[in-house]
Amino acid sequence: MHDVTSQIDQTVGLDLTPTFAPAPHRALCTDCGISRSSNPARCGKACQFIEPDYAGLEADTHGRARDANRPDELFFGPFRRMVRASLAKPLEGAQWTGITTRLAERLLETGAVDAVLTMAPDPNDKWRPVPVLVTKAEDMAQCRGMRMGYAPLLALLEPAIQKGYKRLAVTGIPCQVYALRALEKELGFERLYVIGTPCSDNTTTENFHDFLGLLSDDPDTITYLEFRADYHVELRFKDGRKKAIPFLQLPLSTLPPDFFPLTCRTCVDYTNVLSDITVGYMGGQGEQWLLVRNERGEELVSLLGSEVRLSEPGSAGKRKGAVTGFMANVERAAGGLPLRKMPNWLRPIVGWLMPKVGPRGLEFARARVEMKAVETILHLRRQMPRKMKNMVPAHVWALVEPYGLKPDEAELPARDQSGSN
Ligand SMILES: Cc1cc2nc3c(=O)[nH]c(=O)nc-3n(C[C@H](O)[C@H](O)[C@H](O)COP(=O)(O)OP(=O)(O)OC[C@H]3O[C@@H](n4cnc5c(N)ncnc54)[C@H](O)[C@@H]3O)c2cc1C
Ligand code: SF4
Ligand code: SF4
Repeated sequence: MHDVTSQIDQTVGLDLTPTFAPAPHRALCTDCGISRSSNPARCGKACQFIEPDYAGLEADTHGRARDANRPDELFFGPFRRMVRASLAKPLEGAQWTGITTRLAERLLETGAVDAVLTMAPDPNDKWRPVPVLVTKAEDMAQCRGMRMGYAPLLALLEPAIQKGYKRLAVTGIPCQVYALRALEKELGFERLYVIGTPCSDNTTTENFHDFLGLLSDDPDTITYLEFRADYHVELRFKDGRKKAIPFLQLPLSTLPPDFFPLTCRTCVDYTNVLSDITVGYMGGQGEQWLLVRNERGEELVSLLGSEVRLSEPGSAGKRKGAVTGFMANVERAAGGLPLRKMPNWLRPIVGWLMPKVGPRGLEFARARVEMKAVETILHLRRQMPRKMKNMVPAHVWALVEPYGLKPDEAELPARDQSGSN
């Protein structure tokens, strides 16, 4: 088991916490931390892979359901406003400009919270996430940047309560935020701020190291990786070099079929619908993309004042062809067939064309959400069909309907059929 106590001490120099109990094995689990808490039975209520209630928790968290008159809420969940955003002075080491960690810093600077629960890098492996409780604003700088992998963020909730923290901020990915919201009432914090990031295609840190090995002869020199919205992966290296690789040139079709665990091929919340504010990039056209979801989200944005530049998000292109092509490939992969490869001569041409004619801005974000919904249905149907009725909510079926996917009798969402459950 990973000894979190010593890592936290070295990384942030704060908040000594108890070592966690080992995580029990479950077929679908991203180790959010609840199974390592004093009451692992709460997974039954907290887990998005068991019997999630998105509609109920969205109403509890945001005070209302998704608004059918605002079509983008079907894709992105309830929000007050969406904006394109950048910090005027991007923060060193941040994944984009650092809005996520700056918001947490501001909460600590202004005394709005006692602590921030977030992820730092493992001192022995910068790509491995390690959960930490941060109480000094200046320590948030060490948490900037994206790591690939899973770590039991929510196992630090009980230590936070034991330390007497009553006002807490949490940064997290959707499967962590789902469990946090499901248990929010019983946790009893006086104030809870939830800063979420979107998440897709996560995998174990070990798998990610293998992937880096396919991208470079010297993978240890890679310091940064991001799948950008302009259809390129950006790599940065220790010597300051940057490299952008078109998606089509990536060695994705050579990855083993289990490279992405079933959890991350079948989770249904790409955009972190239960956070107060989602900080992503998909709809940002080269900048960050904020979904301000409720009053607390507005309060968070106001903490940034003139440090953040905001503008209207754009939208261009049409997603249907891109999603249909993606679906054909997922069908092959879910059926155990190799991915259909584009001829090598065509790749540079299509790679050049995609950023110019493919879906861009909000249309790119909608395309990615639809792709993820298609992936969920096709993989879960094949690998764990009995999970469908509990794991796939009605709004996901609405997203895939234009692509000819419909629930059969046994797949109809269980909650809709019984009213509450
Ligand atoms: C696995 C993964 C996949 C993602 N995929 C997408 C995507 O498809 N589309 C999109 O718009 N955004 C995605 N994101 C979010 C994106 O990478 C940025 O984190 C986000 O846009 C915030 O940028 P920033 O500059 O504000 O972050 P920073 O200020 O640099 O802060 C980054 C934050 O991410 C947290 N973090 C880093 N790694 C992890 C991890 N493994 N688990 C939990 N928290 C972590 C850190 O604790 C920190 O709070 C993904 C994030 C992760 C971890
Ligand atoms: S609630 Fe968290 S720890 Fe429990 S099974 Fe789900 S992902 Fe795993
Ligand atoms: S892709 Fe989904 S299940 Fe996997 S880590 Fe991200 S939010 Fe969790």
